[in-house]
Amino acid sequence: TAPPHEDPQALLARVFGFDSFRPGQAEVIGAVMAGRNTLAIMPTGGGKSLCYQIPALCLPGLTLVISPLIALMRDQVRALREAGVAAGALTSGNTEEETEDVFRAIDAGALKLLYMAPERLGTTGTIGLLRRARCSLIAVDEAHCVSQWGHDFRPDYLRIGDLRRALGVPLAAFTATADAETRAEIVDRLFDSAPPETFLRGFDRPNIRISFALKDRPRQQVMEFAAARRGQSGIVYCATRARTESLARALEEAGHNARAYHGGMDAAERRMVEELFQREDGLIVVATVAFGMGVDKPDIRWVLQADLPKSIESYYQEIGRAGRDGAPAEALTLYGPDDIRLRRAQVDEGLAPTERKEADHARLNALLGLAEATSCRRQILLGYFGEDSPPCGNCDLCTLPARLFNATTPVRKALSAVLRTGES
Ligand code: ADP
Ligand code: MG
Ligand code: ZN
Repeated sequence: TAPPHEDPQALLARVFGFDSFRPGQAEVIGAVMAGRNTLAIMPTGGGKSLCYQIPALCLPGLTLVISPLIALMRDQVRALREAGVAAGALTSGNTEEETEDVFRAIDAGALKLLYMAPERLGTTGTIGLLRRARCSLIAVDEAHCVSQWGHDFRPDYLRIGDLRRALGVPLAAFTATADAETRAEIVDRLFDSAPPETFLRGFDRPNIRISFALKDRPRQQVMEFAAARRGQSGIVYCATRARTESLARALEEAGHNARAYHGGMDAAERRMVEELFQREDGLIVVATVAFGMGVDKPDIRWVLQADLPKSIESYYQEIGRAGRDGAPAEALTLYGPDDIRLRRAQVDEGLAPTERKEADHARLNALLGLAEATSCRRQILLGYFGEDSPPCGNCDLCTLPARLFNATTPVRKALSAVLRTGES
């Protein structure tokens, strides 16, 4: 526990061992400690955790942290305890003993951070427990999980609004991916539509070189890209499970260390691939979107999207897994007419209401705009998320003298046709 006079800067150094805040951290911490409702949108690896951990140490009572992944909660609790912070978690993964320890710490008034899986919010007694524990702040990690139409939707996140009302304490929400619409949804569901103080910044990941290429030889393009980066850790994202398996096999046959990963595999198998990826250097994971939030490896050198993602948000989220250590990293996206047709059909055939489908088409079109851009891609990407920036010098359009643009190749022709249909 912090001595009463210790300020965030001092805590940063003493407890976490860092000498300066990352961009945005100090401002967000200031707002949270002042008791304001906040929504912070910061890139993956930007250091969101500290933005609630440091206030938790300064505020009286306990900070409740709601997080969607048990593995991430456990990691954070372990790291906090190692740093001498009284933290605990209540999740379905707990042993009875761990749960009793948490209850004891709460009753002794000793716990500063309590991590809780959203499912737990549905358990009777939870609100009473949090009142008894003198909960003074609710921190919601991965707040985009409250978005009903997003890919990470967690129904239990919808209970958070009621919890906030019941406890009457400030709430701080954090996410790496939220365009204007997702932000509006978060505000609506977590803050009863009363706008929180919003921090939207630092979307840029300047160390990731971004490129797009027309998909004219799908298999070979992947193989060539991987061959030129042998020994580096990377992720290949694919649109279907079948494709992850066939590409993983092809990469293995070419002598790479590669594994498939998708939602059709059982939990133990998936866990094994996650651990292998974390531990080993130079593994290629060939995955569907199922390989996502839990990926926390700093030295992923490249992300290759072998198929076009479904939206500009998914695009940004996936490439953002590369180069979290700040060292140079690469993102290449392959796309062609079939991808566009597939993504359009997925939206049209979905069960979402019409307004929703329109929004999904708009997000897909924003990605197509990025793919077909003729000037700096990063400028366009950041612009979509509300940030102005100069040309980046680290995307294919900034660094290629002039993109050789042959409008007569079959792929280019087919693509033009599909793009035209979309406009009509
Ligand atoms: P996010 O949740 O935004 O993706 P994390 O909170 O997991 O990011 O932080 C990513 C990494 O950056 C962690 O290893 C964390 O310890 C480190 N980190 C956070 N803040 C700082 C800082 N001010 N100085 C140095 N490292 C930091
Ligand atoms: Mg995080
Ligand atoms: Zn650029």
